[in-house]
Amino acid sequence: MIENWRPISLLNVDRKILAKIIFWRLSSVAGDLLSSHQHCSVQGRSTFSAVLAIREALERCRAAGWRKYLLALDQAKAFDRVNHEYLWLLLGRYGLQGRFIDWLKTLYKGAESFPLVNGWVGRPFEVGSGVRQGCPLSPLLYAFAIDPFVRRLEGASLCGVPLGIAGVPPLKVIAYADDVSVIISGTEEAQEVVSVIEQYTEASGSKVNHEKSEVFWMGEEGESFELPDAFPEPQQEIKILGIKFGPGDYGHRNWESRLVVANAKVASWKRWRLSLRERVDLIKTYLIPIFLYVSFVCILPVSLYARVYSCFFQLLWGNRLNLIKRNVTYLSRREGGLGMVNPIVFFSLLFLKYNLGNMLAETPPGWVGIFQSWFRPFLHCWEDGGPVKSLRVRHGKLPAYVAPCLKILRQWQVTVEDIRSLPRKLLGERILAFAFSVSLALKDCPGSVMREGLRLINLERIPLKFRDQAWLAFHGRLYVRGNLKHRPVDDRDCPRAECVGKVESMDHFLLLCPFNIEVYKRVGRALGIPFLYRMSYAEWVYGAFPACWDFDLDTLFLVSIVVRYFTWNARCQITIRKKVLPVEVVVHDILGEVGKIRGLERVREPRAVWIRAWRNIRPAFGELSISG
Ligand SMILES: [Zn+2]
Repeated sequence: MIENWRPISLLNVDRKILAKIIFWRLSSVAGDLLSSHQHCSVQGRSTFSAVLAIREALERCRAAGWRKYLLALDQAKAFDRVNHEYLWLLLGRYGLQGRFIDWLKTLYKGAESFPLVNGWVGRPFEVGSGVRQGCPLSPLLYAFAIDPFVRRLEGASLCGVPLGIAGVPPLKVIAYADDVSVIISGTEEAQEVVSVIEQYTEASGSKVNHEKSEVFWMGEEGESFELPDAFPEPQQEIKILGIKFGPGDYGHRNWESRLVVANAKVASWKRWRLSLRERVDLIKTYLIPIFLYVSFVCILPVSLYARVYSCFFQLLWGNRLNLIKRNVTYLSRREGGLGMVNPIVFFSLLFLKYNLGNMLAETPPGWVGIFQSWFRPFLHCWEDGGPVKSLRVRHGKLPAYVAPCLKILRQWQVTVEDIRSLPRKLLGERILAFAFSVSLALKDCPGSVMREGLRLINLERIPLKFRDQAWLAFHGRLYVRGNLKHRPVDDRDCPRAECVGKVESMDHFLLLCPFNIEVYKRVGRALGIPFLYRMSYAEWVYGAFPACWDFDLDTLFLVSIVVRYFTWNARCQITIRKKVLPVEVVVHDILGEVGKIRGLERVREPRAVWIRAWRNIRPAFGELSISG
C-alpha cells in the first residue's frame, strides 16, 4: 500500500546545526505569532500542556454533565504535504521576511529524494513539498503551516469548554503539531467544523484522513446528538498524545497498561547477574522512564501501589523475596541503604509538583483555569501556609485525582512553599525521612561502631563483587532464608554434615561453624594474621577492630570481606549444587583473591600508601602474576 510509505531523510551535521539555529530564533517568537492553542515547538508549552488541556476539558464536561464530542483529526501524511511555496508565502504573512526566509529556502532548495525499494535504488527527483523528517525545524514549520486552520477553528462559533478565567475565551481546539482536536457541542457546530475542514483542504493542499480521525464522547452516559456523515463512528475511548482517555477512572487504566509493559521488562531483566547497586541504576535509568510520561497526567492510583512496589522490588532482589526492609533500601549508601527509589513517592511527587506547581505559577497555562476549580475549595487555607481542608466536605463530582492529591498533601505534610520552590529531589528525601523512616536494627552495635561500619562497607577499595555480601552481612541478613527454594521450609540447620542439629544463624556461620574456623586458621597463617579465627561478630561484620593491632584496619576489613565471601559461597554450593568444596580449595580461592587485590593496589597506589595499607600482612600467591 503506497499510503504506508514514508520519506526518511538522512541529513548531514552542518545542515542540522543551521536548522537548529533557525529553530531557536523562530521558536522564540512563535509564542506570539502562533495560536495560543498550538502546543508544539513553542517555548513554555509542551505535550503536557496539550494533553492536560484535554484532560481538564473532559473532567469539566463530566462534572457538569455537558454533552460534547471531541473530534481528533488525523492529517494524512501531514509533514510531507506542506507545499513549499505556500509555506514561504505564509511565513511572509507572519512578518518573517528577507534573509531569514532565504536561509530557510537554502535548507530546502535542491532537496532531492530517491526511492529505495527492497534494495533497488531509483532515479533522484526534486522535492517540492514536505518538511523533513529528522530535522529539528520540521515540527515548528508544520505548526506555522497548520496555524491558519487552527485559528479558523478558534474563530468558529463553537461553545467549547469555558476555562473559568475572566476575559479568556473558552477552549475550542487543542493542537500539537498535526494532532488537532476540536470540541463540538451540537449538530450545527459539527457542520461548521466540516466546512472549515473543506476550506482548509482546498487552500493548502493538506488532507484530513477521515478513516484515521476519531470521535470521542466526553459526556457521561446518556443522550448524544447527531453528527454529519463525514464524521467517523463515536468511540468510548480515545488515545491522544499517548494517553488513553475514556469512561470511569481512565488514569487507572493508563497506569495498568504501563505496568504490563514494565512487568514484562522486569521478567527478563531480573535474571541478569547484577549487583544490587547495578540493579538500582537499572531501575533509575530504564524502569522509571516507562512510567514517566503517564505520571505527569494521571496520579498513581492508590489501588496500584502494591503492584508498583512489587514490580520495582522484584527487579531489585531478582525474586519475590525482599531480604532487607524496603525502608532501609531507600537510605543513601552512606546511611546504610542502597539509594533505592520509592516509586510511590517518586511518581506521586511528579504529578503533584507539575500540576499544583502550574496552578501556583504566576502565568499559569489555560488548563489551570479548570484544574484549580477542583482544588481551591480545599486549598484556601493551605495556600496561606495552613493545613489542607478535609475532603469530607460535601462536594459535587470531582476528578479521580483530587482525593489522592489532597491525601498526599496532608499525610506527607507538603506545604505550599514545597510545591512552589523546593526541588522535587529534596522534597522526596524529606518525605522518605519523615514518612518512611527506619532505624537500623543492627546486632550489638553501638553508634560509633555503626558509623565506622558504614564507612568501611562503602570503601572504594572494595571490589564490586564483594559489596552486596558486605552490605547484607552488615544488616545481619547474609542468608536468612535466602535460598529457600533449595531447601525444605522447616530446615533451619547449618547445611554441613558435621553441623547436624546446629541452627544456622549469623553467629554460627561467622564464629562457630568448624569448617569456616579451619579456613580462618589456614588463611590467617598464610597471611600472618594469627587472630583471624578468634575475631568477634562486630569485627567480622562492622570491622570494629581494636586499634592497638599493628595492621591497617581498612585492609583487615577488606581481607575479612574476601574470607566471608568465599566461605559463604562454599556454604551455598552445598545448598544449591549439593557440592562440598574441600577446605584447601576455599583457602586457595581466598588467597588468590587477596593476592589479586594487593597486586592491583600496588600498581594503582603510591608506594608509601600501599606499604602502609598492607603492613604486616604477608604476600599471598596470585599477587606476583599481576604486578609482574
Ligand atoms: Zn556449620
